[in-house]
Amino acid sequence: MTLPANRPRVGIIGAGMSGLCMAATLRRAGYRDFVVYEKASEVGGTWRDNTYPGLSCDVPSRFYSYSFAPNADWTRNFASGEEIERYFVRVTDELGLREHIRFDTELASARWDGARYRLRSTDGRTDSVDVLVSATGILREPKLPDIPGLDSFDGAAFHSARWDHSVALKGKRVAVVGTGSTGVQITGALAGVAKPLYLFQRTAQWILPMPRLPYSPVSRAALKLVPGLNKLSYLGYQRIMELIFGHAVIEPGWQRDAVSALCRSYLRTTVRDEELRAKLTPPDEPMCKRLIMSTAFYPAVRRRDVQVVTDKIVAVEPKGVRTADGRVREADVLVLATGFDAHAFLRPMELVGEHGVTLEQAWRDGPRAYRTVAVPGFPNFFTLIGPHSPIGNHSLIAIAETQANYVLRWLDELSAGRVRRVAPTTEATERFNSDLRDSMSGTIWTSGCDSWYLGPDGVPELWPWTPARHRRMLAEPVPTDFELA
Ligand code: NAP
Repeated sequence: MTLPANRPRVGIIGAGMSGLCMAATLRRAGYRDFVVYEKASEVGGTWRDNTYPGLSCDVPSRFYSYSFAPNADWTRNFASGEEIERYFVRVTDELGLREHIRFDTELASARWDGARYRLRSTDGRTDSVDVLVSATGILREPKLPDIPGLDSFDGAAFHSARWDHSVALKGKRVAVVGTGSTGVQITGALAGVAKPLYLFQRTAQWILPMPRLPYSPVSRAALKLVPGLNKLSYLGYQRIMELIFGHAVIEPGWQRDAVSALCRSYLRTTVRDEELRAKLTPPDEPMCKRLIMSTAFYPAVRRRDVQVVTDKIVAVEPKGVRTADGRVREADVLVLATGFDAHAFLRPMELVGEHGVTLEQAWRDGPRAYRTVAVPGFPNFFTLIGPHSPIGNHSLIAIAETQANYVLRWLDELSAGRVRRVAPTTEATERFNSDLRDSMSGTIWTSGCDSWYLGPDGVPELWPWTPARHRRMLAEPVPTDFELA
């Protein structure tokens, strides 16, 4: 495809799932003048950083793929983290994205100078771009718990996203703090390896039984032979996910009832010991926190060498973890599966828009984006998986694709010379956010629980409508919602 000479130079921050998605979308549309700034030495983002035992994705692999890069080779219905990371590396190479990526380059700041963004990396290098796309992901910055004495621990201690593979676990006393998706997967993998395994649970979580099953070589060969089957499979999973989870989280109905009943009956039938079952019964509704999918967790915690500790942790000491009842569980290894700072956004990078206003200042009262993709006062700046994207148990890849295609629409406008500067109006952004907040009340996330889904004001930072509405909303730019120059 030939593009006009005034096509914009684009900068993408991050070579994780969404940054690669943007890069691939640009390349497929014929754009060549773009750079992906990546602070690490390889692509993959969260799938590169998280390497803990048991890591897998709970979105079906045939749907957790780019629609433009189907993968007939997935070995399981729910792929392992390692396999997903390999997929991203392969897509990067096959689609010619690697030549656009500037590895080991962490941006320190991006400043709008009235026409372009002036970029500076932490090692002092500079660059400039006409359009800047943030693809930094949500769960990037590990959150360490505020537990006294954490530094005093004698053994090995690390966050789940910074797994230390030099530490042997077999036969070791391992303490895991946290029972989110991560802690649950680690527990399933370390049960029987660690002796004993102490799982420190602050709040029990609902679990939906989703068995991880291998794909037979025959089915994989069939998908290779008939690519249409892969497409069909993608669409089938998309429909099912949207029909069930897409509705269950946003409104009461049979989908919510069915998921809830399945979680409750799975706990009742799998954990027969009443004391343990009481410990594992969450105080809130299924899906209020992010729903966990596992068939390994309950069998793991039923083992004699796994202990679920629900007493409050009061301190970490050189020998182990002390709880409020005065007991110390001695451990050789301490794993902190305590989640991420979901509100880090671009931090520690500084983004400066018009009139010297930083994103930090603009989002002082919480993140407010226009339709999940743009911010008033920050011309030619777009966000992928930005605030309020539909992320609750959905494939983030599908969402990133919708958003990348939307950005492409504006890039085509800029390329054609019809506009030079594009930023959403404050009014359109406020209208969108006001609609969004008004629609939160029926969602499951407001049913009374604490999670990384909630913003500082307690309002969920999620999408209260169906994923299909997100696609429709971003199908075409609405020029009247923008200040154009
Ligand atoms: P998380 O869901 O935020 O869970 C953190 C856990 O640590 C919670 O159980 C929390 O307890 C506990 N915790 C935090 N601070 C603590 C403290 N000071 N003392 C005791 N316990 C503490 O984090 P995550 O498990 O890493 O998962 C984050 C997200 O990553 C998931 O929701 C999901 O979106 C994504 N993820 C996805 C997959 C997948 O299969 N696709 C796998 C892993 C992660 P409370 O509940 O009481 O706060």
